[in-house]
Amino acid sequence: MRRKLVAGNWKMNGDRASLAELDLVERAAATHAGVDVAIAVPFTLIERAADRAPDLSIGAQDVHENDRGAHTGCVSAAQVAEAGARFVIVGHSERRGDQGETSHDAWAKAAAAHRAGLSVILCCGETEAERDAGRAERVVQAQVEKSLPDDADGSWLTLAYEPRWAIGTGRTPTLDEIAAIHSIARAKMRHMIGEKADGVRILYGGSVTGDNAAAIMAVPDVDGALVGGASLTAAKFVPIIEAAGA
Ligand code: PEP
Repeated sequence: MRRKLVAGNWKMNGDRASLAELDLVERAAATHAGVDVAIAVPFTLIERAADRAPDLSIGAQDVHENDRGAHTGCVSAAQVAEAGARFVIVGHSERRGDQGETSHDAWAKAAAAHRAGLSVILCCGETEAERDAGRAERVVQAQVEKSLPDDADGSWLTLAYEPRWAIGTGRTPTLDEIAAIHSIARAKMRHMIGEKADGVRILYGGSVTGDNAAAIMAVPDVDGALVGGASLTAAKFVPIIEAAGA
């Protein structure tokens, strides 16, 4: 049985005052003990967030693929772990789009995070043009093939399917479309890592809200949600945790 995971991604939002939102999120997580709750905050807030909400899993939104060295402006997995992060998001579509990161980069960053003892949320997802061209399944298969580490298993790795055109747009695929991609992603992982794939959670991400979370999380092979905009306030995030725990 895979436990549901609801993970927030604050992106480049939030300041010290925003950490007050974590108090209610932590309380909601405590009352839904069957749901894992995680929030990836900006680097600058990791340590304070981890101190303030010790029962939440606090994470980072990126790490460098190397363990140390001359990489000005970058942060290593060991550094975020020392600050209190328990996980990191890699391969997010905004990093693919803004920084030109590839699936190979996501693979290297996932491996670096694992070396440092962090869990990983590994993102994949097609663009709107790729979906319109009928290529969504092939794109996701190829991304998983290039980014999933050989030693991946559910104890440290979670896959997140996030169609790029659904992120921050208020648009979502149909439930059947989500089911189809999650099923092919699971099949691809089985092909690569065998039955360990059955222990890997697959989150859906892209415009998840308190209104659509229950229906999305009832789809087969959807093991939770990766949430951007609606994770910024407890008022919007807590209903998603509640939907996962229902
Ligand atoms: C995301 O960026 O991972 C995301 C899912 O964003 P949103 O929920 O705002 O679409």
